[in-house]
Amino acid sequence: MSITGVVDRVVAEVDRAADEIVQYTVDLVRIPTVNPPGDAYDACAHFIGADLKRRGFDVEYIAAEGLPEHTPRFPRVNVVGSRRGGPGPVVHLNGHFDVVPPGEGWTVDPFGGIVRDGRIHGRGACDMKAGLAAGLFAVEAIHRAGVPLPGTVEVSGTVDEESGGFAGVAYLARRGRIARRRTDFVIIPEPLNVDRICIGHRGAYWFEVTAHGRTGHGSMPFLGVNAIEGMGRLLQSVREDLVPVLASRRTGVPVVPPGARHATININSIDGGQTVGGIQTPCIADLCRAVFDRRFLIEEGFDATKAEVERLVQRANAQAPGVHFEMRDLMVVHPTRTPDDSPVIAALDRSMRRILGKPAELVASPGTYDHKHVARIADVPHCVAYGPGILDLAHQPDEWCAIDDLVNATKIIALATLDLMGARAA
Ligand SMILES: [Zn+2]
Repeated sequence: MSITGVVDRVVAEVDRAADEIVQYTVDLVRIPTVNPPGDAYDACAHFIGADLKRRGFDVEYIAAEGLPEHTPRFPRVNVVGSRRGGPGPVVHLNGHFDVVPPGEGWTVDPFGGIVRDGRIHGRGACDMKAGLAAGLFAVEAIHRAGVPLPGTVEVSGTVDEESGGFAGVAYLARRGRIARRRTDFVIIPEPLNVDRICIGHRGAYWFEVTAHGRTGHGSMPFLGVNAIEGMGRLLQSVREDLVPVLASRRTGVPVVPPGARHATININSIDGGQTVGGIQTPCIADLCRAVFDRRFLIEEGFDATKAEVERLVQRANAQAPGVHFEMRDLMVVHPTRTPDDSPVIAALDRSMRRILGKPAELVASPGTYDHKHVARIADVPHCVAYGPGILDLAHQPDEWCAIDDLVNATKIIALATLDLMGARAA
């Protein structure tokens, strides 16, 4: 079979399957896998697994045994299907099936899976149940087109991406289920827009600062040390000394939107003195706690990022008499970047040119996603995110995915999968 013949047949099979792809997405949206707390994971993993089995995949269920979040009430169950072909490369298509809570402001049922005006609506339609459908049907279309698989393709549905992915992709990577020695390429069909390939993300450093003062009678504040006042000084220093410096740093990685190409810090929460809503007590606040979310650039590195914050806190310690500041790390996510010459970028770009008639735009994510676990724990460098859905709609009320984008992404993933297996030269 010539390469053109293969492409035409696979593309035709995706087009023929369009209604099935939509229905599969709808079926997934109707399983309310809300995280937190991690609802209906078992049901969703088994829905995906049963479907993979029917299509001839070998199916494994991998529960996150030993992790505290894997409980009888909220089991963390992942599913991996494999379809083995020739001895060629292993391409792994991974999607998370957890979704963030629907929140307010919906005009449609978030779990109704409503299809209207060429769009699938619902929580997770965009992020990323359409992506899961695209991965599955990419493999299905190759199969239906009668194209022999030169390698092995794996399709996984995993949990908890929205809360860090520790029981999901990180767990599979720690267990060696996704690993450099057995996995060649990973595509994560996150919604980064149908014409963009995401090659990584910035780093995230979450830390907490606690200011300790000395309490006393609130009628005589001069007899104590107010921890909230102390925290105020630190916040002022963050605003005046740190933020302008961060804004002046710019990464060479194509993070979108462009505003996120700079280093940033967000004051995530603050809590001090007596409980808000309680009955007022005449006391001087002796405790104030703030959580910070610092997004750092691959060029900055984690060590320098942390040292810079430590210097700021030390200075606040010196400048706020009587207040003592303590700092504690909450979470560190290191930045990742796919190598420029990675075959996974080239294969998706070639496929996109065929299907959309234009080259891919390379972007990086302002946040993080499961790529970090594939790169850092599994040590698989050839990983990108590519999938249907518009990034800006993720986590929004009335989230949707366009059916045209879903179908096109399915074609592009199918062709890229074959390309990566070396079928391009066939
Ligand atoms: Zn996602």
